[in-house]
Amino acid sequence: MKQLFFCLYIFVFLTPLNSQQLDQLWSDGVQMFNDKNYHGCIEKMNQVIRLVPVFSEAYYNRGLAKLNLGDVEGACTDMKLAGEQSSKEVDKYFKYLCDSTWMLKTLKSYYYRHTRLYPETGYRPRYTWADTLRGALRPERTCYDVYYYNLCVRIIPEGRKIKGNCEIYFTVNEPASRIQIDLFDNYKVDTIVWMRKKLIYKREHNALFINFPSILLPGEKHSISIAYSGKPDVAPNPPWDGGFVWKKRNKSERWVGVACEHLGASSWWPNKDHLSDKPDSMLIRIEVPSAYRAVSNGVLRKVQEIDKSFKQYSWFVSYPINNYNVTFYMGKYTEFTDTLMTADGPLLLRYNVFPENIDKAKKHFEQVKEILPAYIELFGSYPFMRDGYGLVESLYEGMEHQTAIAYGNAYDKPNRQEYRNNKYDFIIVHESAHEWWGNAVTAADMADIWLHEGFATYAEYLFIEKMFGKEEYLHEVVRKLNYIYNFWPLIQHHNVNENAFASNDVYNKGAMLLHCLRCTMNNDSLFISIIKDFNVMNRYRALTSDDFIELVNKYTGKNYRPFFNKFLYDKTLPVLVYTYDHIGDKLIIKYKWTEVEDGFTMPFGIETSDRKSYRLEATTAEKEVILENTSWFNFYNQWKGYEGCEDHSFTYFRTKCNNFR
Ligand SMILES: [Zn+2]
Repeated sequence: MKQLFFCLYIFVFLTPLNSQQLDQLWSDGVQMFNDKNYHGCIEKMNQVIRLVPVFSEAYYNRGLAKLNLGDVEGACTDMKLAGEQSSKEVDKYFKYLCDSTWMLKTLKSYYYRHTRLYPETGYRPRYTWADTLRGALRPERTCYDVYYYNLCVRIIPEGRKIKGNCEIYFTVNEPASRIQIDLFDNYKVDTIVWMRKKLIYKREHNALFINFPSILLPGEKHSISIAYSGKPDVAPNPPWDGGFVWKKRNKSERWVGVACEHLGASSWWPNKDHLSDKPDSMLIRIEVPSAYRAVSNGVLRKVQEIDKSFKQYSWFVSYPINNYNVTFYMGKYTEFTDTLMTADGPLLLRYNVFPENIDKAKKHFEQVKEILPAYIELFGSYPFMRDGYGLVESLYEGMEHQTAIAYGNAYDKPNRQEYRNNKYDFIIVHESAHEWWGNAVTAADMADIWLHEGFATYAEYLFIEKMFGKEEYLHEVVRKLNYIYNFWPLIQHHNVNENAFASNDVYNKGAMLLHCLRCTMNNDSLFISIIKDFNVMNRYRALTSDDFIELVNKYTGKNYRPFFNKFLYDKTLPVLVYTYDHIGDKLIIKYKWTEVEDGFTMPFGIETSDRKSYRLEATTAEKEVILENTSWFNFYNQWKGYEGCEDHSFTYFRTKCNNFR
């Protein structure tokens, strides 16, 4: 929490009477703030400002009191007035809260360094035909459904090149003589073959439009084989800004990997690069220089010497897999295994690490045997029993690659993003959750990627709750609130391969949405059964946000659409408009939600002067509560804190007090 100003130097210019009066108002206000009676503090500062209209510190204090009540707009107005009356630089935190120009500049520098953003579209990039080709389900894509990929890629570190072949097996849905396959245009397509015939194709941006000499009919099964070669794009900042990672661990030892979520799997192999279509299974053959091992998804079927200098590692994925999860790691790995006994039988845990880290890894990865059982209980059986679970040491931080999760979090070294409990590694906790959220259940469009990240982040909170209790859960929920920007809505444009990761709100705000949903439902067993069934019933499929909303409505028998519309499609938060009044020793609070659709319901929590806490349910119609023997109240929120709040009452909102307007 920010510090209050205690500076009183301005009083030397006042008359003794005024000075005494001001001194009293000021110290009363400060005392009230410290007692968390923020309304009282605002009232005192209002009186100070009436006596001394130009008084930077009074505006600052009043702004802080408003902030603690969740009135960000009011706080920003006061901070601006305080800034105008003082030569002091505006605090960075208030820039984050109040200055949308500063926020845009910051977000642009992280997510759109080389991309122009347009104010008329809410500071989004201008979408092009290339985005439509990449992100939309056009007829050349919907006419077929992939059921198997047989991919073979040779990694050639000298020259940072790859050369490969991909057989694509598909079922025809609609009559078609032309289909779209995606492969970045920096690759040379050597041949495309169908039934031993070379096919003619046309390239448009990163799409290949392949023509068949006859019409393929619904229900028919076909396969094409695409041979290609070229230099993959290098990842500028893996895994967030993806591509290939070519590294040297020392003078003679190389390491190569790929992380391509959002960028797309077509950045390194030809496929139908859309989240909605997962193959039922896949063979991944990676050829690497003989001194190295290639680790990929699924189970290693065989290792073969191809020629004097290359070995081929054949990995088989026996479940549906989304394209960005397909990966490989080339390095000098040592593998060790472990077993987790589950209700579905023994689950193989497969770990590939650099030899010097094997002892550390053996100890550090023990936590997997606590994390996976927690998720199994929460979200249903482990989704990839036949393929096992895997962690692979990587030279980037982490990525949820199915059954071969990238682990690059330095084992037991403290990391700034660690949990307060310091016991569990957030990369393992987060990425393992993706086996359920993102890998088993996949969003059908990049715009809905909060279904991966929001759920995986919320899974972290649930894990923490399971291991350490509700207090630690709330601590984590609240800690993450300070990383939310509310600059763009969680869901923006479908069909353009939207960069929904920009601002990262899909993680923390997505998780906060689930937390608020749980608070609103006020029924943990129902909430958990919805989350679990949503996973279990939709394993291996690609889903939309509507699928989740419909399930919530069905299970609760209520209409949560206004709730989801607010948190998913609107960047601003619900605003609780309220007034308060004292009648004798009674406090009357009137409140309602605004800037939401009719039907929006959510609780909030208050603390009162006698240190009691209440959970109040608000709707768009005004309600009132009368509290006996109460002189003041405040709200549980990220600034005041969560300690002592009633169960299911800490929610995410802003406030506006009509007493002060
Ligand atoms: Zn994630």
